[in-house]
Amino acid sequence: MEILLKKFNTKFETAPFSQIKMDDYKPAFEENIKNAKAEIDAIVNNPETPTFKNTLEALDFAGNPLDRLSSIFFNLNSAETSDEMQKIAQEVSPLLTEFSNDITLNEDLFKRIKAIHNQKESLNLTTEQQTLVDKKYKGFVRNGALLNDEQKSKLREIDTQLAKLKLTYGENVLSETNNYQLHITNESDLKGLPEGVIEAAKSEAENRKLEGWVFTLDYPSYIPFLTYADHRELRKEFAIAAGKKAFQNNEFDNQENVKNIVRLRHERANLLGYASHAHFVLEERMAQNPDKVISFLNDLLEKAKPAAEREFAELSAFAKGLDGIDQLEKWDGAYYSEKLKQKLFNLDDEKLKPYFKLANVLNGAFTIAGKLYGLKFIEVFDIEKYHNDVTTYEVKDENNELVAVFYADFFPRKGKRNGAWMTSYKSQSIRNGKNDRPHISNVCNFTPPTATKPSLLTFNEVTTLFHEFGHGLHGMLANTVYPSLSGTSVYWDFVELPSQIFENWCYEPEALALFAKHYETGEIIPQEYVEKIKESASFQEGMATMRQISFGLLDMTYHGKPQTIENVKAFEEKAFENTKLYPDVAENCMSTSFSHIFQGGYSSGYYSYKWAEVLDADAFAYFQEKGIFDKEVATKFKENVLSKGGTEHPMTLYKKFRGQEPKPEALLKRAGLI
Ligand SMILES: [Zn+2]
Repeated sequence: MEILLKKFNTKFETAPFSQIKMDDYKPAFEENIKNAKAEIDAIVNNPETPTFKNTLEALDFAGNPLDRLSSIFFNLNSAETSDEMQKIAQEVSPLLTEFSNDITLNEDLFKRIKAIHNQKESLNLTTEQQTLVDKKYKGFVRNGALLNDEQKSKLREIDTQLAKLKLTYGENVLSETNNYQLHITNESDLKGLPEGVIEAAKSEAENRKLEGWVFTLDYPSYIPFLTYADHRELRKEFAIAAGKKAFQNNEFDNQENVKNIVRLRHERANLLGYASHAHFVLEERMAQNPDKVISFLNDLLEKAKPAAEREFAELSAFAKGLDGIDQLEKWDGAYYSEKLKQKLFNLDDEKLKPYFKLANVLNGAFTIAGKLYGLKFIEVFDIEKYHNDVTTYEVKDENNELVAVFYADFFPRKGKRNGAWMTSYKSQSIRNGKNDRPHISNVCNFTPPTATKPSLLTFNEVTTLFHEFGHGLHGMLANTVYPSLSGTSVYWDFVELPSQIFENWCYEPEALALFAKHYETGEIIPQEYVEKIKESASFQEGMATMRQISFGLLDMTYHGKPQTIENVKAFEEKAFENTKLYPDVAENCMSTSFSHIFQGGYSSGYYSYKWAEVLDADAFAYFQEKGIFDKEVATKFKENVLSKGGTEHPMTLYKKFRGQEPKPEALLKRAGLI
């Protein structure tokens, strides 16, 4: 266990995976929490008057061994877990929550921070230091530090109620999802479905000890059925079942929960001094306030709507021509879109995959990062890894100085969760003049190699690799003093800019020529394919954009101002008024299963999907103006965005890079909407 309590004595202080035993974790957490608490106590009990250095700086660097332990443990719990590890996670998570509550509810600590916050103008602080003061101060205030005792207990009461309601909301959605099955016994009802989908439905039926095939409301079962099944009546039945989750006036109904969550969030915001829940949330977002979000969405809607209506008419005509459909319904959309897409592009993954050998794609990302930011990636074999599949790199700059350590872990295996993500094993910071460089990791679940073929990626996997690598660059190039402001520690609606912008290079012939080479012949991907990739990427973008906008507007309608909701369905219908394409389905309601905003963390944040796209398109347009490998633009991006973390307001950083606020035109152009 000793090894987990202090600095690692390894190359670049990398994590010594092989020396950590499963039994070490829990006692190490306990010991590190104890030590971190002692560090906090020492700050609070310091007899000297509070200064930036003895309070905020000390606080930000406190608990370093605990942070490293947490990152190693929870990173591995995602990438290489076991039953034993999950059990430990269950045990240590409450300890960590309690520790973080001990800090945010520590009144004496708050007094010291407040004293500094009150005089911050006269302290000669750097911009980064001011940001740190504001961030820490706000962290306490947003948790109720300025409230009197009665208000504080009211706040705790609301929080408890909200936590319960959100839990119930989620449980209801889950129950309703699990309580439905589409059971098919007649083989001809499966017409149109791909082989793999049918097999999965067959084994689902076997699991349930049923004849035939079973489809469920889980996405991997539901989406393919709606996309491929020829049987229109069954698509209808299935779609309606999906749309009435937790809206059936039974014990799992969420209508009252929606009303109560909205009401309590509003009360909570008022108690803390905010006009609405959205005002509370958006205070710590690039978008800043509900007015800005609503005008952002409406502005985009105005531009996207004509395209969406045009696409809807085109799709309707296509369905009419193909199957004599008079009115396109919600259960027809995915089905005819897929058919139309096949007709227009006829671009399948098997044709593209030979051009995207994983090793080539990764080298492509490295080469592009080299051209833009002067980075070199050198594979090394003297850094420990937690699994044989992982490859490790030293990342160096033009002067051969270490920039970061990079771990790449690309193939699925038991013990790795689904999806793709970037994370760090060590954050960057500068202490006593020493710049401590970060350890960054990308974890994905790509098509593995076979006995006869190397790993060949679908185009979707290619953009995923670039996306996560873009987050990775945000971590690797971090150059801030304080760890809590470093790398990806930025506002939530800003964090996807570095990742999404990097995806843009995957569509540029000049960039593709660097890495999209046939794995057997070495031939560069044909121009015709590149064109098709681009065109199919913006297929039906108008409708997709309008759909995202409709969810964003619904979210803001619930949370942007006080609301009395008589009837959830009617309320929702009104919010969707300007964004409708398909006829309404009376027995369906979105709000009763909109887990993103009522259960998860997306309340007042749904707009950020589109926001991030506007940012990345606008930022990439600047590269396109000057050349996609232009050193000057790249340096501006590195110096004002990638290296700056959360040290300044993102709008300030963005304007320093771009010279102006982001505009939606580049996105609309890229999406083929103008
Ligand atoms: Zn991302």
